[in-house]
Amino acid sequence: MLGLMQQRPLLISSLLDYAATWHCRREIVSRGADGAIHRSTYAEIATRSRRVANMLETLGIAPGGRVATLAWNGHRHLELYYGVTGAGRVLHTVNPRLFHDQLVYIMDHAEDAAVFFDPVFAPLVEHLAPHLPKVRAWIALCGADAMPEAAVSPLLCYETLLADAAPDFAWPELDENAASTLCYTSGTTGNPKGVLYSHRSTVLHAFAACATDGFAFSARDSILVVVPLFHANAWSIPFSAAMCGAKMVLPGPKLDPESIYTLLRDEGCTKAGGIPTIWLMFLAWAEANRGRIDLAALKLRHVFAGGTAPPRAMIEKFRDMMGVFLLHAWGMTETSPIVTIGAPLARHADAAPDQIVDMQVKQGRQVFGAEVKLVDPLGAALPHDGKTVGELKVRGNWVVSGYFKGEGGNVLDADGWFSTGDAATIDPDGYVQLTDRLKDIVKSGGEWISSIEIENLAVSHPDVFEAAVIAAEHPKWQERPLLIVQLKPGAEPDKQSILDFLAGRIAKWWLPDDVVFVDSLPHTATGKLLKTELRKRYAGYLLGKAAGA
Ligand code: ADP
Repeated sequence: MLGLMQQRPLLISSLLDYAATWHCRREIVSRGADGAIHRSTYAEIATRSRRVANMLETLGIAPGGRVATLAWNGHRHLELYYGVTGAGRVLHTVNPRLFHDQLVYIMDHAEDAAVFFDPVFAPLVEHLAPHLPKVRAWIALCGADAMPEAAVSPLLCYETLLADAAPDFAWPELDENAASTLCYTSGTTGNPKGVLYSHRSTVLHAFAACATDGFAFSARDSILVVVPLFHANAWSIPFSAAMCGAKMVLPGPKLDPESIYTLLRDEGCTKAGGIPTIWLMFLAWAEANRGRIDLAALKLRHVFAGGTAPPRAMIEKFRDMMGVFLLHAWGMTETSPIVTIGAPLARHADAAPDQIVDMQVKQGRQVFGAEVKLVDPLGAALPHDGKTVGELKVRGNWVVSGYFKGEGGNVLDADGWFSTGDAATIDPDGYVQLTDRLKDIVKSGGEWISSIEIENLAVSHPDVFEAAVIAAEHPKWQERPLLIVQLKPGAEPDKQSILDFLAGRIAKWWLPDDVVFVDSLPHTATGKLLKTELRKRYAGYLLGKAAGA
């Protein structure tokens, strides 16, 4: 017997309608490239999003057509988030930090019909345009007075088009499974692949983000969105904040610590989300400037971080310096991205501070709606004992079922599970701990060494700013860990001090065979350590040394 309840499609436009109706005066604050603060509300964003929808009709973008953005976090980008998807077109958020060839590949593959870009990217679009004949319009996200020079055709002005577009637009009642946004994986191996989200997956994912043991968003929150809008839907914040009427603070291109601090202070931010690299810089700056800034005046209570593992020292510093709880999350572009979040359990109420941090360094527990499992190379389930390492597999309502245009073929196993390529343990409480990307594990004489664990420890050393461990070739053990370190400004290189620091904290045979000091470590366009590059440079580093030893 079927139930007798209504079934309404889960659409992104309904999120916006809700926020614009029931949280109409809640602010959306954004800071432009020039530092100017722009204040808007959900009601205004909704009206302008409707104008965007009419603009797309005028530009002749067909339903389902792809509309690209090359833009920082700002109110216009947010309007496109809602306007493009609400109108049944697909928003393709492009990461402007990708290499030129990758951008051309991605935008051609997506068949982007229009590109909305921040004026600062005018030189970039000029380079891209000759390679992208399918783009019918290049729209600068600014007013007529700020139009950049760019040899692209046609070059149009967002504010002019918006003013010419009617403010009324009835959001179509789309199939909830219709595509809404498109995001490409960074493709550290092979070509980038497109992940095509749907309205349904996006709305369900937003519920999980809002949940108390998710990011715990509410109407009382003011959220600093440091994670870029072009990275995996900015972890759902544009959607989940609208779902509960939270204020959003969009920082634009300036992500230096002082700029972040002033926004946190002036906009009363209670929550902030971004990758650990940003917080690493922020905390170092906050510590150095303690005398002249007032951390106690901040309302910040939660920072959420993911993409790479936030080190223990960062979690402790947030707690000790600012009374901030770091919520550690794990996911992938392919998983919308939220799968696990490190919210405490009831039993943590009485736990010692160190034990809470032990929990926070792990990647968190599965949220409802996405499932994880730990398997051996043959696919058999492994125990949740916190020790056994296996591959993480995921499935769920916001996990990819295949890549755009079938790239990569079938990516699910017979039971619908997606292989993440991440090696992890799961403890008896259900907390997942990533030990490595499968391809980054150091295989020393048949035993596995976790590069992430050594990196996390190394950055707890007072002189270390950032650390990477790679598998370096070794004549006897096949691979041994090599630690590559960027020191904090002013620190003197001292290998022995770092090795001594690690020695008591990890098994002896995990100790890196050597430490290399570098001025800076290479990163991917999404802020991850670019280990392929480090391996290219240092894979043979130990061979000569080991032979001579
Ligand atoms: P990219 O486009 O760079 O692949 P993703 O965000 O899709 O970006 O990357 C997903 C991968 O990032 C995961 O498979 C995992 O290896 C890594 N990752 C994500 N969150 C964390 C985390 N909290 N700790 C460690 N690694 C993480």
